[in-house]
Amino acid sequence: MTKKPKVAIYWLGACGGCDEAIVDLNEVLLQVASAVDIVLWPLAMDQKYHSIEELPDGSITLSIIHGNVRNTEHEEMARLLRAKSNLVLAFGTCACFGGTTGLANFCGKESIMQWVYRDAPTVENPKKQSPQPKTTVGGESLTLPELLDHVYSLNQVIPVDYYLPGCPPPPDLIGHAIFAVLEGKLPPRSAVLAPQKALCETCPRNNNKPPRIDITGIKRVYEVEVDSHVCFLTEGVICMGPATRGGCGETCLRINTPCRGCFGPVEGVEDAGAKFLSAFASLVKATTDEQVQVIMEKFHDPAGCLYRFTQPTSTLGKRSKVRETV
Ligand code: SF4
Ligand code: SF4
Repeated sequence: MTKKPKVAIYWLGACGGCDEAIVDLNEVLLQVASAVDIVLWPLAMDQKYHSIEELPDGSITLSIIHGNVRNTEHEEMARLLRAKSNLVLAFGTCACFGGTTGLANFCGKESIMQWVYRDAPTVENPKKQSPQPKTTVGGESLTLPELLDHVYSLNQVIPVDYYLPGCPPPPDLIGHAIFAVLEGKLPPRSAVLAPQKALCETCPRNNNKPPRIDITGIKRVYEVEVDSHVCFLTEGVICMGPATRGGCGETCLRINTPCRGCFGPVEGVEDAGAKFLSAFASLVKATTDEQVQVIMEKFHDPAGCLYRFTQPTSTLGKRSKVRETV
């Protein structure tokens, strides 16, 4: 009997949405489950870490890893799965770029701990205690994973073979990616398994854009009701579509919500935030510094808006050191 390929599905610093997206494959998931031997999937099965440690190196055909690397347990498991796997797929925006929790890199680890365990108004901590990585209880030593200094994307910690962005990735791209592995139809390594073009290219609102957009003011979504056929930028609402990879199925746009950039930068672009800012600046209609300042004052939380999903892999985020043994 032919041996089935071994597949591991594992979460690091993740919200669970990526696992949910895999479950949402419905019948396709049943096909996948019958074609592979799932050796690790904490969401669905009770396997132990030691069963992975005992596998020969390179014996797992594919590890699908979602979530970012935020603590020592994430790092240890990422390295273990890398050693045991032929292919590693960074699954979802947190694994590909750091994701929303990557915004924590704008604060230091210490200031986060200070706020969460001391200063936040809802905290009651009269002894000013904070979590310790080692504690002795009844003579036994208990350990907790330690928070790393930064939030890292997966490829800042281990080499990654393929990337599937999305928060979470949509079912059609997940299905294509998994069957491409099973059928040996993968593109060259390091490829992003999603369309190469920007979201604007497939956005239904693009057809209704005027020949030139002049931005004279910025509005937040609650300040204006944008017609469902109109490009958000024509109304001065920030939409990251020009700098964001397509492939999401325009889900947000279809419910009249501008793109937030979860698919990360388009092919060949490293920093989606800088790319968007440059495109946006070319649309701003202002002739004096004062006019520019009035417009930009309404750009609420620019760093959070431009790097909502990609801070760790952005130019800004790379000030955070890549972990040394990648
Ligand atoms: S990419 Fe989105 S859905 Fe997936 S773990 Fe991160 S936050 Fe959750
Ligand atoms: S900027 Fe946004 S709304 Fe406008 S065409 Fe691009 S994706 Fe669509």
